[in-house]
Amino acid sequence: MSQKSKDQTTISEDDSEFDIDSQEKVEASIFSRVLRGSIALFVLVGLLYISGVYQYFFYQRTPLSVNQVQIENRVDAQTFTLPLTIFIITASAPYGSIRSEENVLHLVENASRIWDQAGIALTIKNIYIISKSDKEMKVFSDAPAAFIQNTEGYDTTTINVFLVGNLGGINGIAFGGLYSVAVADYTTVYDFRALAHEIGHMLGLHHVSGSQGQLMYRGANGFELSLEEIERARLRAQRFEEL
Ligand SMILES: [Zn+2]
Repeated sequence: MSQKSKDQTTISEDDSEFDIDSQEKVEASIFSRVLRGSIALFVLVGLLYISGVYQYFFYQRTPLSVNQVQIENRVDAQTFTLPLTIFIITASAPYGSIRSEENVLHLVENASRIWDQAGIALTIKNIYIISKSDKEMKVFSDAPAAFIQNTEGYDTTTINVFLVGNLGGINGIAFGGLYSVAVADYTTVYDFRALAHEIGHMLGLHHVSGSQGQLMYRGANGFELSLEEIERARLRAQRFEEL
């Protein structure tokens, strides 16, 4: 009885040892599979990044159904009108913009709602649809000033808004001194927020670090302006009023 009991105990211990061994083997096999899976995923993401397909995952076109909430005008003074000249740059994918005029109206209307708080109203002076070759699009990325200044309709009495398919992974750019901004079709934030942010740069505002709720915070959907920013932006906006 005692012997049998001991045997049972031994067997039980063996079983237990065997269990531990096999569990380690299973864990090692899972680890190796996860490792191989991770490497495959890493390579796949890299390939998608290189091919530009990634933009369809992280970068999206802003749907017409998304609208900026109304913000109260915080300025008890004249509303300044900020005229925009819009260039829809069409070219082969992914460089060209595929925006429709309806899409552009939505873009500007919602960006203007953000600037309402500063007593600044964005208006469209002209919309040009301009077709460019791949070679000309290369000029845009290599020497944007030449591209911008040679674009028919370029108008420094307005802010020139260049709409393109993508900007190599960024949502928008402000070209200081050229009265020009560019906004991509595919963005990580709402396109109208990207436009409103770049116009902020045009009006002399810099990036802020504090809260994501602010318009000049990078890469978020914030739209708030401080009273100091409003004052500074209005000084610049006034220039367009006087032209
Ligand atoms: Zn910025």
